[in-house]
Amino acid sequence: MFSYRHAFHAGNHADVLKHLVLIATLRHLTQKPTPLMAVDTHAGAGVYRLDGDQAETSGEAQDGIVKLVAAGLADPAPALADYLEVVASFNREDRPRLYPGSPFVIQKLLRAEARDKLKLFEMHPTDIKALVGHMAQLEAGRQVSVARQDGFESLKALLPPPQRRALVLIDPSYEIKSDYTKVSACIQDSLKRFATGTYLVWYPIIPRPEAHDLPRRLKTLANQAGKPWLHATLSVGQRDEAPQAQMPGDAPHRPGLTASGMFVINPPHTLKPVLAAALPQLLQVLGRGRGKGQTLESGG
Ligand code: SAM
Repeated sequence: MFSYRHAFHAGNHADVLKHLVLIATLRHLTQKPTPLMAVDTHAGAGVYRLDGDQAETSGEAQDGIVKLVAAGLADPAPALADYLEVVASFNREDRPRLYPGSPFVIQKLLRAEARDKLKLFEMHPTDIKALVGHMAQLEAGRQVSVARQDGFESLKALLPPPQRRALVLIDPSYEIKSDYTKVSACIQDSLKRFATGTYLVWYPIIPRPEAHDLPRRLKTLANQAGKPWLHATLSVGQRDEAPQAQMPGDAPHRPGLTASGMFVINPPHTLKPVLAAALPQLLQVLGRGRGKGQTLESGG
């Protein structure tokens, strides 16, 4: 338990998809003047150094945000341009050295004047300390609360929110198989408590039955509740590389995650067209080889 550290994966293609969808959703929800409650059930450390040991060891950001920035797209789709601006706002140089995790991304888009609130949950003993320290640097005061508690369980007490408007990001590490069933149980319970909330679920696309079933279960839950949904996936595919000779002492080659999805219940009506313009550009830059592709479907 708790072997997962997001610092190794920060800014990879899955974070790019997740944070792009998160920003596009929040932009819409923060247009209304009424207050919004945002909940990040699995917050991580808040912000990450891309030149730190963990990110450099994995190199995953090189195939994600670093590649995207280096591509210098001449005419990025508005949602992609917005995402790149949010990342750039945490960096002084053109090359990103800091990567904002979901707590930093959400806090940046929330409005003090509208009295928006952000509730963060994290369980890892090291990451919770880092998260508390990082959030304190933002000096957001009572806008943000951070708790070392189970995000799935803690969400229950927050719904329905007094504001009657909520965005909930559910982004577990799925390091234990039970996370998949917990996500669907959490969505089922949350829709009963607060049917009009906007729920965003990130999941990995990997060859394991639980991962395969999750979007299907989420679709069923949304349909049963009579709520609209949107499902976006990005697969960067396998690396087209000639096999390298293995040297004594080399780590065995690990292909890593090649695809992930975002499932959104009660998406803003603007989200689908915005993603339809951005996802092909993401794929064009981040696609690597065999199996690459993107999908966007909606229902309800
Ligand atoms: N949402 C973050 C972002 O986008 O920057 C990344 C989160 S990472 C994928 C998942 C995090 O959930 C890890 O930091 C892990 O320690 C934490 N975690 C695992 N189980 C948890 C639980 N039951 N409640 C809250 N956090 C948990």
